[in-house]
Amino acid sequence: MASSGVQKPFPQPAEGSTQSFWRTELDPLDDHQTTPFPTETDILIIGGGYVGASAAYRILAENKQDVPPRVTLVEARGLCSGATGRNGGHLRPDIYSATALFTERYGLEAAAEVVRFEISHLKLVEELVRKENIDCELTFTRSYDMYYDEDQLKKAKSFYDFLVNERLDFMNDVKYMSQSETQEAHVRDAKGGFSFSTGHLWPYKLITQLVRIAMSHGLNLQTHTLVSEVAETQTADGFWPVTTSRGIIHARKIIFATNAFTSALAPQYAKAIVPCKGVCTQIAAAPGAPHRNLPGTYAIRLGPGAFIYQITRKDGSLIVGGASHTFKNDVEQWHNNPDDGKLIDIGVNFLKGYMQRTFLGWEDSGAEAKHIWSGVMGYSADSLPHVGSVPGKPGQFIAAGFNGHGMPVAFLSGKAVADMAQNSIAFEDTGLPRLFKTSEARLEPIYDDTR
Ligand SMILES: Cc1cc2nc3c(=O)[nH]c(=O)nc-3n(C[C@H](O)[C@H](O)[C@H](O)COP(=O)(O)OP(=O)(O)OC[C@H]3O[C@@H](n4cnc5c(N)ncnc54)[C@H](O)[C@@H]3O)c2cc1C
Repeated sequence: MASSGVQKPFPQPAEGSTQSFWRTELDPLDDHQTTPFPTETDILIIGGGYVGASAAYRILAENKQDVPPRVTLVEARGLCSGATGRNGGHLRPDIYSATALFTERYGLEAAAEVVRFEISHLKLVEELVRKENIDCELTFTRSYDMYYDEDQLKKAKSFYDFLVNERLDFMNDVKYMSQSETQEAHVRDAKGGFSFSTGHLWPYKLITQLVRIAMSHGLNLQTHTLVSEVAETQTADGFWPVTTSRGIIHARKIIFATNAFTSALAPQYAKAIVPCKGVCTQIAAAPGAPHRNLPGTYAIRLGPGAFIYQITRKDGSLIVGGASHTFKNDVEQWHNNPDDGKLIDIGVNFLKGYMQRTFLGWEDSGAEAKHIWSGVMGYSADSLPHVGSVPGKPGQFIAAGFNGHGMPVAFLSGKAVADMAQNSIAFEDTGLPRLFKTSEARLEPIYDDTR
């Protein structure tokens, strides 16, 4: 139940003010309500993003049962209108970067588990898209991680050398690039960097099509239905009463797929998962203006904490996000702020002229932002997602807190909580990295990585 001091259900985005590029072509399911609002369900999924779609697909399309459970997915706004519909579209495993932090805190074996898990998403999403014939512009390429700060590069290279010396299988794909080799990536003035395999896609298209498949197997989709409260206790016959803007629904099991907004419904997560805003843009060269085709996706690291990520779409436009160093000091603007209806001004200014400054062959491109939007990420205090059984709440499950990095994490996390909710699979048997397990201890975090 929401209590004072805890994040309230989020404000709705102001109409049109931060429409993401991905949501410029809306699917008919965007405002779909399958039936009048149901009063009872076996499994209630709260949240219609990557996790919610993955869980619904898993339960109904993959774990098929003769008598399938009644599954209801409620989404406060349009389908896929949260972070998944507002992100950078970058399906990029983190191979050696957050890994350094996890290695320091938990040891190399546990950290390597996370890396392998993230990399496995590339193949699994490819198989899914092929099997279900999903049109979401899934593309595989190389990610160029470019460093502009000598010391930061030195540290990254030394961790890279450590991982190579440890003979970790996934390092075969990571190539170190000297300063002169960065020219291959057409970036200006980088000191060096790394490249490795990555993907990108149109997230809204993936999610709406996954949900459509789940619906063909019985999913009840209820968009524009805000959950305001989950009761403290179950009824005598084992249901959780859940209050929504359209009535009360009794659910035997609940999956919180609410990411940044989790603590409004599960306040015990208030310290563990904090809503933090980010900004993203679609940038394109002026029609007919000269500009080079860019060979891959990018992480442009201007210095510690100064990070920009981008993908090149097949129409040649770029999706560029990050740059949080430009607004980090204005804490109110982004930290513990769930309002994705309002833009972050400073980040927007920084992105002006970004392509011309950063890439060789873009000087006269006339590149400018065509769409700018904000989105809310679920930053977790220890930089790890929370997945599994909600402590002390039998029948409640969570997969949330993806730290602005859910694309290579959320799909299998959604499947795992689906298996736990539907078939009582233990966390340890889901194949998830051990560090992801949500726990009482992690609700009182010893780190605060959210700032
Ligand atoms: C600007 C931005 C850029 C990003 N770029 C990338 C990137 O390039 N690569 C990457 O890996 N990750 C990126 N991310 C992070 C990534 O988008 C997320 O980690 C991922 O989409 C999380 O999926 P989700 O399903 O958990 O959350 P969401 O997609 O946010 O879904 C949660 C849903 O729950 C709904 N909801 C919440 N509370 C309630 C309630 N009370 N009642 C009903 N519904 C509710 C919300 O409306 C929302 O639709 C980015 C995020 C942002 C914001």
